[in-house]
Amino acid sequence: MSNYTFLRYESHADGTIARIVLNRPETRNAQHRGLLVELDEAFHRAEADDHVRVVILAGAGTIFSSGHDLGSPQALEEMQPGGHPSFTSNGGTRLSAERRMIQEWHYYFQNTLRWRDLRKITIAEVQGGVYAAGLMLMWACDLIIAAEDTRFADPVGPRLGGAGVEYFAHPWEFGPRKAKELLLTGDAIDAEEAYRLGMVNKVFPPAELTERTLQFARRVAALPSIASLMVKESVNQSVDAQGFRNALTSVFSLHHVLHAHWAELHDGGAAYGTEDDGILNWQAAPPMTVAAKDTVGGQ
Ligand code: ZN
Repeated sequence: MSNYTFLRYESHADGTIARIVLNRPETRNAQHRGLLVELDEAFHRAEADDHVRVVILAGAGTIFSSGHDLGSPQALEEMQPGGHPSFTSNGGTRLSAERRMIQEWHYYFQNTLRWRDLRKITIAEVQGGVYAAGLMLMWACDLIIAAEDTRFADPVGPRLGGAGVEYFAHPWEFGPRKAKELLLTGDAIDAEEAYRLGMVNKVFPPAELTERTLQFARRVAALPSIASLMVKESVNQSVDAQGFRNALTSVFSLHHVLHAHWAELHDGGAAYGTEDDGILNWQAAPPMTVAAKDTVGGQ
């Protein structure tokens, strides 16, 4: 497939660099099913192309990704009969928690792991905000280059009664104690703190982000492909040996205990916490605050 509705697929440096751009800026690149299925196809295309050595994942507009799409007209429409075909396969015709768990397994969890396992080096190019499920896309990449204005946060605890997203890499990326703080408060960290934590590799002014990322990608692409693949795989296998993959698979189950709890409490309705449960209305919630060591934060 080469025609995309929700993203752009660019080729750079004589085809050695593929650049995939999430292209729903009007929704702050919120991830609905149409986008996720196209993204999987685009990664597969880059994977199959032996000329491609590095894949950049970027987002159009001012925000890399605001996370799962919880309410755009397109997201609501694709779930209706005759909508996106993926809602009638891969568990989509099952019932209740089984349906939810299998659908999320395919479209939130296994696809993210598949992108992490690409046989190419991947670089996330992020700006503005990387929130909740936006973190999943970014963390699946091997390297992360951020604009100075980037904020990173997973606010699903205070805003949806959740414990993090389906690809629970938070303790591995933030460190265990910081992960607890950020998930309990929903606070953000800025690009400088993300750099200090080792979560991002480079930080540039927003106006320079795309060009500097391409420059860095060219440097990585110059390596023999076998060397870059073995570097990636040696690190990933080391982290997997420490339990990364098993931990994520285990926590995916906890994620679905939580969904099932809320759905049962709501008589089969919303599979997340709402205002009636004492949760902030996520659409009306105040802007996220940036965590600082000498303030409690909050309102
Ligand atoms: Zn979920």
